[in-house]
Amino acid sequence: MWIYVRDLKNHVGEHVELRGWVRNVRSSGKIHFIDFRDGTGFIQVVVEKNNVDEESFANCKKLKMESSVIIHGVVKEDKRSPWGVEVLAERVTPVQIPQEPYPINKPDHGIEYLMERRHLWLRSKRQFHIMMVRNEVLKAIRNFYWERGFVQIDTPIFTGAIGETAGNLFELDYFDYGKVYLAQTGQLYLEAACLAYGKVFNLGPTFRAEKSKTRRHLIEFWMNEAEVAYYEHEDNVRLQEELVSYIVRWVLEKASDHLIALGRDLKKLEKVEPPFPRITYTEAVKLLQNNGFDIKWGDDFGGDEETFIASQFEKPVFVTHYPRKAKAFYMQPDPNNPEVVLCDDLLAPEGYGEIIGASQRIHDYDLLVERLKEFNLPIEAYDWYLDLRRWGSVPHSGFGLGVERTIAWICGLEHIREAIPFPRTLYRVYP
Ligand code: ATP
Ligand code: MG
Repeated sequence: MWIYVRDLKNHVGEHVELRGWVRNVRSSGKIHFIDFRDGTGFIQVVVEKNNVDEESFANCKKLKMESSVIIHGVVKEDKRSPWGVEVLAERVTPVQIPQEPYPINKPDHGIEYLMERRHLWLRSKRQFHIMMVRNEVLKAIRNFYWERGFVQIDTPIFTGAIGETAGNLFELDYFDYGKVYLAQTGQLYLEAACLAYGKVFNLGPTFRAEKSKTRRHLIEFWMNEAEVAYYEHEDNVRLQEELVSYIVRWVLEKASDHLIALGRDLKKLEKVEPPFPRITYTEAVKLLQNNGFDIKWGDDFGGDEETFIASQFEKPVFVTHYPRKAKAFYMQPDPNNPEVVLCDDLLAPEGYGEIIGASQRIHDYDLLVERLKEFNLPIEAYDWYLDLRRWGSVPHSGFGLGVERTIAWICGLEHIREAIPFPRTLYRVYP
């Protein structure tokens, strides 16, 4: 019976079939040790001369790194293996034996070398563990919303009306229509959907032509956005801390073996429970000024500022009430101080920066028109968006969570490029 490595522990003593790949073979006369993987895990297969037919034993001598192979054998308990078992082979059948040496064969390949071979690098242990965490993060996000009665709304990737800063948009020609842009957010569409279905979310790729070459920025990244009708700022903040705690808890429950393999300190993640600390933008500026940062009220924070603020806390921290001029046109002014808006950024601990950008949205028609003008945006392009304020407008709020930044933080990665299978960065679209 074909069994995956991850399930082998339930088949101790049984005859099984494994289908996968050889990471390495060590041989010593009468015995071969195959370091085997099948996409669900890694295991040692022991091939003893007097336990297999002659052809199988001879086959093992031909096996090279990344040969594909089918193995029949018996599952044995083995306390030293991470899966608690190893397999004693009875038959070894190669599927394909490479003619050339596998290019990823040293522990110290440089990052550019590995990125150029990302299609193969994905097979490596560390990348396997990261992708398994990513998979759980994506499941956690969807489950969180579905458990709470949210409706998934898939927002378009070709967009006419633009979300935020035009400078960061990828532009393309769309038949006779003229210029369209790759979505850098689905927010405006989710706002429409929340007035139709109440609680909505999306999960999909977004595109930003940002020249910022930092360890936190990708050109193509996945974003999860949520939007809720009748939610105000406070409701919005609570939803975000519940979501982030849920994701972390989920990953700790379902994928802690992968986190441990990545060397992640689980204790730090175990602290991530609501409520999260909060400071206002104005308090944050004072904190920064008192610690030698050259910043004045009204400036936006860069990576260093965010890292410093976050380093004051063990949990993710909300920075709220930014100056209206530093943020997007659609954010609702604070009734107590119209110079600031009802928004928050959620900063991850340990220097991972902003993982969420959020706000209550302007629901008043006249105020929204005023803001579009103030930001010099083409009112015609926003006509459908203004319709949402013409019919059945209500206070509503939402946010966008950067999926790869969240994964990078949870896994403890140095750079965001390992958090996505095929990263698109300033200098790389291959493979
Ligand atoms: P930053 O100031 O860090 O560039 P932003 O303010 O442009 O972020 P938003 O527009 O609020 O970010 O996007 C929502 C979330 O998407 C961010 O909180 C972040 O987690 C993520 N994000 C934004 N830009 C990128 C990017 N280039 N690569 C990866 N994730 C990103
Ligand atoms: Mg940005």
